[in-house]
Parts: sequence; C-alpha cells; structure tokens
Amino acid sequence: MSSSGQKRGHVEQSQAGRFLRRDRVFNFLIPDVVDRLDVSDPVLLYLEDVNVAFDGFKAINNLNFYVDSGELRCLIGANGAGKTTMMDIITGKTRPDSGTVRFGRNVDLLDLSESQIARAGIGRKFQKPTVFEKLSVFENLELAMADDKSVWNTLHCKLNSEQQDRIATVALTVGLPEQLGQLGGKLSHGQKQWLEIGMLLMQEPLLLLVDEPVAGMTHQEMDKTGELLLSLAGTHTVVVVEHDMEFVRSIANRVTVLHQGSVLAEGQMDDIAQNEEVRRVYLGE
Ligand code: ATP
Repeated sequence: MSSSGQKRGHVEQSQAGRFLRRDRVFNFLIPDVVDRLDVSDPVLLYLEDVNVAFDGFKAINNLNFYVDSGELRCLIGANGAGKTTMMDIITGKTRPDSGTVRFGRNVDLLDLSESQIARAGIGRKFQKPTVFEKLSVFENLELAMADDKSVWNTLHCKLNSEQQDRIATVALTVGLPEQLGQLGGKLSHGQKQWLEIGMLLMQEPLLLLVDEPVAGMTHQEMDKTGELLLSLAGTHTVVVVEHDMEFVRSIANRVTVLHQGSVLAEGQMDDIAQNEEVRRVYLGE
C-alpha cells in the first residue's frame, strides 16, 4: 500500500474508532439469523419456567412472563426482585439454568447470542444514556441506522432521501427535530434518553426493553417520556422497568410485579395498588 493509502487507512480507522463501543451492538456487524419471525400468536415474548441461580441463590425462580405484541408493559419490583436479571436473560446476557425463552412463535432466544438477539428485533435501553457525545443528533441516528454498510461507508456515503426521511421521522418521534445539528453532549439528560430511544428505533426493533427511563428527569421530561412510550406502543411492544410509581401509573395498562424472581401479581395498576400482598412486600405496608 502507498504511504498515502496507509495514511488514509489510518485516518479511517481512527474515525471508525470513534464509533466502536463495547456497550452497543450495531446491526451491520451481525449476520442475519432470523429469516422470518412468526408473530401469528398474540404473545410476542414468552418466558416459561425460567430459573437462574447465582452461587445457589435463586435470582429467577420458576418465572412465567408473557407479553403480547403491541403492549406497553410496566415491570415493577423492589431492589433485587430480579428485573435486571430477567432483562439480561431476554437479551442473552445471562443464560438461564432451565426454562423456555421465546420470541414470536419460532425464535428460541436461548439459541442466539446477544448480538443475534439484537438483530432479531429486540432492542434494550439501559438506564444511563450512552449517546455519542461528540457526534450530532443526526449523526447518532445515522450511525444507529447503519445496516449492511460498513462503518467506513457510513462515514463517507451520502444518505439517500429515504434514509434522510427516516432520520427526520425518528427525530420527530422522539421530540428532537430542532436538535438534529446539536452535539449529543450538549443535550439535556432527558434529551439524551430520547435520543437513545431514537437510536434504538433506527434499528426497527419489534420489542423495546427500557430500563428506568425517567430516573433523574424533571417532571416535564417525565411527561414527555410517558407520551413517547405510549406513542410507541401498538407499532412496537414495549417493556418498561421503572421504580417511579407515579410515572408507572401515568403510562401503565398492564403491570407485572416481580418478587424474589417470580411474578407476584399482574394486572391493571389500580388492582395492583390494592393487592394486599403487593402492598406488604413491595410497598412496605
Ligand atoms: P434493582 O431494582 O436493584 O436493579 P433487580 O430487580 O433488577 O434490582 P437483579 O439485579 O436482577 O434485581 O438481582 C436479583 C438478585 O440476584 C439480587 O439479589 C442480586 O444481588 C442477585 N444477582 C444479580 N446478578 C448477580 C450475579 N451476577 N452474581 C450474583 N448475584 C447476582
């Protein structure tokens, strides 16, 4: 390779280095594993008889959990109830000792790696926003859209009008149409959370797992987040883990209460709030 070729390669690699992150999996890095997801059943996510023990401690204990397509489900439970472990199981980070974990009718999630699960249509948003601070909102969304292109192409190719429209549509959905040119690092905490949800949406997931989306938000940001999550339900299936009960009440249709790795109660928020066992073990009454 000529020295200018080597130099260019180096520049491209260091540019690409800006985008390589251990905590994010981009679609273009992963081969397709699911030809066609069978969503002919109302239930999109099935967990049945799932068990996980850490050094003999049963973090997940005969857990049965089902979510219908298009639902917005809230998952609540005291610290240590097993919420994070359950999300880790769905996304392939933790392997259960036993049980069934299925996506649609035909995809056994226990056969797939974490990256394959992301590719199959399950997006996870962690509590702490992890947007690229030195890239604009537009670039963050653009990078998240990267599909069969390489990182290098993503950096150098011009977007077609359809792709530009998609970015604009997602920016509008997450309430950031005015901030497209703004650096990720300059956004408020709430805006970063919305951008990250937007980045997930660019990958067109069917199921979104959202961990404590309103932690640290102002009331106004919480209201907007509630509206956003409600607007995503229907076209997406959304599972929200949240401790803020006021927020849960504002968005919840069906609520699942986890306790000691099992479902303690499930139903409408009002029923849950009046459930004596829930009040005793979760609300501390
Ligand atoms: P929080 O609301 O505090 O995040 P959670 O409901 O998400 O709690 P988990 O984080 O799933 O609960 O933890 C369930 C239990 O399993 C806890 O007692 C926790 O200490 C334990 N646990 C989780 N991961 C591990 C691990 N890798 N090794 C050992 N114990 C673990």
